[in-house]
Amino acid sequence: MAATHSTRMLILGSGPAGLSAAIYGARAGLSPIVVEGMQPGGQLTITTDVENYPGFAEVIQGPWLMEEMKKQAAHVGARMVWDHIVEVDLSERPFRMKGDGGTVYCGDTLVIATGAQARWLNLPSEEHLKGKGVSACATCDGFFYRGKKVAVIGGGNTAVEEALYMTNHSQDVTLIHRRDSLRAEKILQDRLFAHPNVKVVWNKIVERFVGGGDPEGLAALELRDTVTGELSSLDVEGGFVAIGHSPATELFRDKVELDSDNYIVVEPGTTRTSVAGVFACGDVMDKIYRQAVTAAGTGCMAALDAEKFLAEADFEAAAEPALQDA
Ligand code: FAD
Ligand code: NAP
Repeated sequence: MAATHSTRMLILGSGPAGLSAAIYGARAGLSPIVVEGMQPGGQLTITTDVENYPGFAEVIQGPWLMEEMKKQAAHVGARMVWDHIVEVDLSERPFRMKGDGGTVYCGDTLVIATGAQARWLNLPSEEHLKGKGVSACATCDGFFYRGKKVAVIGGGNTAVEEALYMTNHSQDVTLIHRRDSLRAEKILQDRLFAHPNVKVVWNKIVERFVGGGDPEGLAALELRDTVTGELSSLDVEGGFVAIGHSPATELFRDKVELDSDNYIVVEPGTTRTSVAGVFACGDVMDKIYRQAVTAAGTGCMAALDAEKFLAEADFEAAAEPALQDA
């Protein structure tokens, strides 16, 4: 028979949000269980240099940072389980989740920290040059392209913000969009069009990321015109794919409220979701900031919100018999 694990605080996800919730939850005596998922440590385990996480004057490595967070969570008493949740029942408390191999996890509270994944163009050349000039996070990697020619692909708010962000590092930024108008907000578009260091290339898609040099890095983009079909080439050393993110919320569809982009909706200023006792933190509920430090911050909030929820629930449960006696 499949095992069942029960806890006061069940945490799905072991990125900065989940592990920060675990650290706070463990220190509050809630004996959290962290279900790590397919990517233990989360998105930072697929990057190298991290230069913007506070507390480190030297450049640190993403995988190392996540290992340290995990050790800290374990040290204060959180339990890590390597499993991936495939089924969720939030209809009553304790909430029940089922792992890949049938193990059942029950939580008096649930912290959802399943993150989001950048969408990619899914080109073989993109896969080949990821981390060698091709990135999906200008805020994270833009610094490495100081003084170089770069391109941002996409036409939404993220692409425009990433292009504007890149002007802090590069004098030559090209935004490449597949149509002839942007989806981004007007105010961002105005800023973009007014910037002397940004060019916009309309009606083009990336057909291929072209490598070059030794060690190999991105050297150019092969572009196809979406109207004429014509091919052209653009020399760049950095290519940022900014065509949206997909939050990992498939499991929670119709179970907690999601917004039109499938992010979990939380009550402003809290991590409370539409289901009492279920909290969401990190990239799964944040489509704007999407940084390790903000994920960690909201992870802390989720643990504190869950702790408060449990304290109030315990208080009400304790009060019930007295009321019946009266
Ligand atoms: P994630 O880190 O995405 O973690 C999600 C977790 O949920 C994973 O552990 C996964 O296994 C788990 N999970 C998902 N589904 C399930 C499931 N069904 N069951 C159980 N577990 C599940 N930010 C910075 O601040 N600085 C940087 O330099 C930086 N560099 C980056 C470089 C790259 C290449 C990328 C992709 C991102 C970078 N970021 C950076 C962004 C940062 O990594 C994210 O903002 C942060 O990791 C979000 O944390 P999170 O905990 O919300 O989610
Ligand atoms: P988005 O709004 O979905 O925009 C994605 C862009 O990428 C679109 O312009 C789309 O083109 C393009 N695209 C998609 N697939 C593509 C492909 N295969 N090839 C080429 N181009 C492709 O995503 P986002 O910009 O990440 O924003 C997501 C959400 O977060 C939005 O609600 C946005 O408002 C919000 N957000 C807000 C802020 C802010 O408030 N400051 C910042 C960032 C994000 P088409 O236009 O042709 O579809």
